[in-house]
Amino acid sequence: MSAQIIVNNLHKYFGSLEVLKGISLEIEKGQVVCVIGPSGSGKSTLLRCINRLEEPTRGEIVVDDITITDSKEDINKVRRHIGMVFQQFNLFPHLPVKENIMMAPLELKLKTKKEAEQKALELLERVGLSEKADAMPRQLSGGQQQRVAIARALAMEPDIMLFDEPTSALDPEMVGEVLAVMKELAAMGMTMVVVTHEMGFAKDVADRVIFMDEGIIQEEAPPSEIFTNPKNPRTRGFLDKVL
Ligand code: ADP
Ligand code: MG
Repeated sequence: MSAQIIVNNLHKYFGSLEVLKGISLEIEKGQVVCVIGPSGSGKSTLLRCINRLEEPTRGEIVVDDITITDSKEDINKVRRHIGMVFQQFNLFPHLPVKENIMMAPLELKLKTKKEAEQKALELLERVGLSEKADAMPRQLSGGQQQRVAIARALAMEPDIMLFDEPTSALDPEMVGEVLAVMKELAAMGMTMVVVTHEMGFAKDVADRVIFMDEGIIQEEAPPSEIFTNPKNPRTRGFLDKVL
């Protein structure tokens, strides 16, 4: 069986700036891959190319056997199976928590209102926020809002979840509750690509860690290797700064 996500020689330019310089990687179903690296190295751009929030300049991306870089493919159909969680939670401020979670499946007519509501309540229980179903986003802490954002992404029943620094905007005391939800998701077999500065999470949860610098995958290894014995001097330099 082929990998669930295949990226093949991906290049991305913004104008004349080459941000991704030939990225290739494969991620199997159920794997958790953490992407680490300095600011500006292209981590977000890589994630955004995987769900086509950015248009790759060159190269191929295959998700669930569908070549999403092929213009003939219905990208919206593919994107539905890929959930994304951002640093900024981006909840709709004027909608109660429950309705934030119900919104996408309803808009796309994938569920009846009743089904969507039931799913939302189930997901809120999963992220530990059952009692906040009718609260407004502004009444929640940052950590709670991010857990709602995860529930909202899960409402589309994705089989891949992309996380772009999901805890970077949080006060330190709220980081753990969000990572705990992500850890549980990983344990349930979700395929996850996580851009993070949380090296503890990467050590505990990742099957593989990718170190990116200057638009290139400089090193890729299981956490037990990359954190104890990085081979690339750039990886070592980066880890010396953040560990
Ligand atoms: P990272 O997530 O690793 O910090 P990014 O993927 O966000 O890196 O950015 C990589 C580089 O691409 C940076 O130099 C950034 O300024 C540039 N970049 C990102 N998005 C855009 C854009 N929409 N237009 C122009 N340049 C961009
Ligand atoms: Mg980024």
